[in-house]
Amino acid sequence: MVPVPKTPGEVDAMAASGAVLAACLDMLCAAVRPGVTTIELDRLAEEHIRAHGGVPAFKGYRGFPGSICPSVNSEVVHAIPGPYALREGDLVSIDAGVVLDGWVSDSARTVAVGEVADVARRLLEATERALERGIAAALVGHHVGDIGHAVQAEVEGAGFSVVRSLVGHGVGRTMHEEPQVPNFGLPGTGAELVEGIVIAIEPMVNAGDHEVVMGPDGWTISSRDGSLSAHFEHTVAVTAAGPRILTMGAPVPA
Ligand code: MG
Ligand code: MG
Repeated sequence: MVPVPKTPGEVDAMAASGAVLAACLDMLCAAVRPGVTTIELDRLAEEHIRAHGGVPAFKGYRGFPGSICPSVNSEVVHAIPGPYALREGDLVSIDAGVVLDGWVSDSARTVAVGEVADVARRLLEATERALERGIAAALVGHHVGDIGHAVQAEVEGAGFSVVRSLVGHGVGRTMHEEPQVPNFGLPGTGAELVEGIVIAIEPMVNAGDHEVVMGPDGWTISSRDGSLSAHFEHTVAVTAAGPRILTMGAPVPA
């Protein structure tokens, strides 16, 4: 399957979806504190998304029960919201998606719960920096391998590992479209980035080894070695003017 570029009008419509998602994640990050359960965060997310005219993209996706994936500590992605109450020192990765007027947006952030260990802080910073580096490589004429290479270089330069069995992806009318966007690779390889391609760039980074395992619930993916994991994601349009982040939210008024 060949990736289908979006028109400028379609990219604007996806940005409207992304703005709802960005505001939702802002709200959720502010709600993270010791004692909050992940099912409470899920309820807040669903209320927020529906109040802004959207639909939670994750809810019912292949039978997924939640509106967010709140993955804690060694959990990498796809955790199910539940009764777990966040504790001081935890990392929680919040991944969410919005459908607005038929357009999907997909974004994730990892948040420190109170004071966290030095390695956790460094992992967060490296993963967010890797996302920024990956986005900066999302240029017309580049290839997805340029993005993966930029992410991998940043992560491994910080002494951490990129998860390889899970990848970023095209986004549009559905959450997962072509092309796949690995967080590793070689410059100039893989699908070419043409104007109008919209992709979710999403480094998933383990403090230890890159291997992951599936949990008994059939959803939660964790680091095999039990090391901490972080995940940052934006939905990004490749435009003639450079990468446009669609899940950044509205600029703060001066
Ligand atoms: Mg996501
Ligand atoms: Mg994604």
